[in-house]
Amino acid sequence: MASSESGYTSPKEVESKLETLRATFASGCTKDLRWRKWQLKQLFWLVRDNETAIADALYKDIGKHEFEAFFTEIASVKGDILDHISNLEEWAADEVPDAGFAFTKLGSAVIRKEPLGVALIIGPWNFPFALVMQPLCAAIAAGCTAMVKPSELCPTVASLVETLLPQYLESRAYTTVTGGAEEMSFILSLKYNHIFFTGSTPVGKHIAAAAAKHLTPTVLELGGQGPTIVTANANVDLAAKRIACSKFLNAGQICITTNHVFVDPSIHNEFVARLRVWNETFHGKPEHGSQMAKIVNERNHDRLTNMITNTTGEVICGSTGDREKLTIPTTIIDNVTMDDALLDSEIFGPLLPIIEMGFQEAVDKITEGPHPLAINIFSHKKSEIDYILNHTISGGVSINDCMLHAAVPNAGFGGVGDSGMGAYHGKLGFEAFTHRRTVARMPDFLDSAMSFRYPPFDMKNKKAVDVGTRVGFKRGETLQDQKIGGGSVAWS
Ligand code: NAD
Repeated sequence: MASSESGYTSPKEVESKLETLRATFASGCTKDLRWRKWQLKQLFWLVRDNETAIADALYKDIGKHEFEAFFTEIASVKGDILDHISNLEEWAADEVPDAGFAFTKLGSAVIRKEPLGVALIIGPWNFPFALVMQPLCAAIAAGCTAMVKPSELCPTVASLVETLLPQYLESRAYTTVTGGAEEMSFILSLKYNHIFFTGSTPVGKHIAAAAAKHLTPTVLELGGQGPTIVTANANVDLAAKRIACSKFLNAGQICITTNHVFVDPSIHNEFVARLRVWNETFHGKPEHGSQMAKIVNERNHDRLTNMITNTTGEVICGSTGDREKLTIPTTIIDNVTMDDALLDSEIFGPLLPIIEMGFQEAVDKITEGPHPLAINIFSHKKSEIDYILNHTISGGVSINDCMLHAAVPNAGFGGVGDSGMGAYHGKLGFEAFTHRRTVARMPDFLDSAMSFRYPPFDMKNKKAVDVGTRVGFKRGETLQDQKIGGGSVAWS
C-alpha cells in the first residue's frame, strides 16, 4: 500500500481512493438493494469472524476488558448490522406524502430515499471500532460509498480496520484512510457528499468549517460536559451504583458519561457513602487486578492528573494513578464548586466531581453553559423530572440511569448545539446518509385546469391559488381558547 513517510495514507492515495469511490457511486451499483444487503452481511461476518482480534486490539490500544469490548463495541455493532439488514427494504421504500387530493388522486408525489453519495466517516478513539463501524453500516444501508478514517490514537484498531475492510467488503466502494490532525487537513480539503464525524467539539468546528467550503452536509457527534442530577427524591443507592458504573466503564472516557454530579444537600452524605461502596465494589480487590480500561495516552493522563492535583475540591478516593501503565482509578472529588478548573472543560476520564446543590439551582448552572450531549436525572418525583426536562436542552436524557437513552433502538442518538447536530442509530442512521428526494407528477390533461399559473397573470385567478380561505378558527381567540391533546409521560 502506498503510504506516506508517517505511515499514514499518502495524499496521493487518498485522492486515488476517493476517485474510485466516486466512480463506483456513479456506476449506481451501491444503490441496488441486493448489493447493500450483501455488503451488510459481509460487514456482519467481518465482525463475527474477528471478535477475538477486535477485542485484542481494543485491549492493546485502550486496555478494555474483553467483556466490555464485546458488550460495547462488538455485540452492539453486530446488533446494529442485523437491524439494518432486516429493515433495509422498509427504510429504503418510497414514501407517499400526505399530499392532498391533487397529488394523490389526480397526479402523484413520492419521496425517494436516495444515497447522498461518497461519505467520509471520521472516528474517535474511545470506541475506536464501533464508532466507525456503526456509521459505515448506516452508509452501506443507505447506498453510499464510504471512506473510513479511524482514530490514529488507537493504531492497532485502525490497522485492523484497514486490513479487514478489503477482506470482506468491496474495496471499490468502501475503503480506509489513516492519519492524524495533519493528514486530516488534506483529507478534508477534498469534496465529499457527506461527512459523518464523531469526536470533540473543538475538532467538530474544524470539520464544519471544512465542510462549509464544499457545502457538504455533516453529522457531528460531539462531546461536552454531561451532568447528572441526584435529587432529594432519588433512590440514592441505585444512583450511586449507576453513576459509579458509568465512570468505571471505559475509564470514564465516554461522551455520555457523567461529567459531574449535582447532588441535593439533604442526601449528599448518604450518596457519597454509597458511591464509595460501589466504586470499591467495581474496582474489586487490588490482588485481582483492575478490569478498568486505561487512559488512551500520556497527554490525556497528564491532563487528568493535573485536574486532580489542581482541584480545590476534596479528593475522597482514587489517585493520580500510574503514568507508565496509563491507569487512573475512579477518583471521587467532593465539595467541588462551580469555579473549580475541573469544570472548565469535558473531563473525559475517571474523575467524578460532586457538587452539593439542589436540582433547580443545578438547572440554572446547566443552562448557563453549552447544551450537553446527555443529562442523567435521578429522581422519583414527576414534578422534579418535568422541571429539569422543561428547563434544559440536551442531546438526550436518561432517567434513574446513566447513558440509557443511547441504547433505545431507532430513537436517534445525537447532540444539540455544541454537542452536535444530526443523529443516528437504526433508521435514523439510514436517514443520516440519505437524501429524501421528492418526485412529483401531474398528468398533461390537467394543463388547462392549472393554466392560472401562466403569464399574463389575471387577478381573477386569485381564488384558485388562495389556500387560506377555509381556516377553521375564529378571529380574536386567546391562549385559553387553544385545545391541545397529549401531555407528558409519567416518569416515576
Ligand atoms: P477528536 O476530536 O480529537 O478526534 C476525532 C477524530 O478527528 C480523529 O479521527 C482525529 O484523527 C480527527 N482529528 C483530530 N484533530 C483534527 C483536526 N484538527 N482536523 C480534523 N480532524 C481531526 O476526538 P477524540 O479525542 O478522538 O474523541 C473524544 C471526543 O469525542 C470527546 O469529546 C467525546 O465526547 C467525543 N465523542 C462523542 C461521541 C458521540 O457520539 N457524540 C462519541 C464518542 C466520542
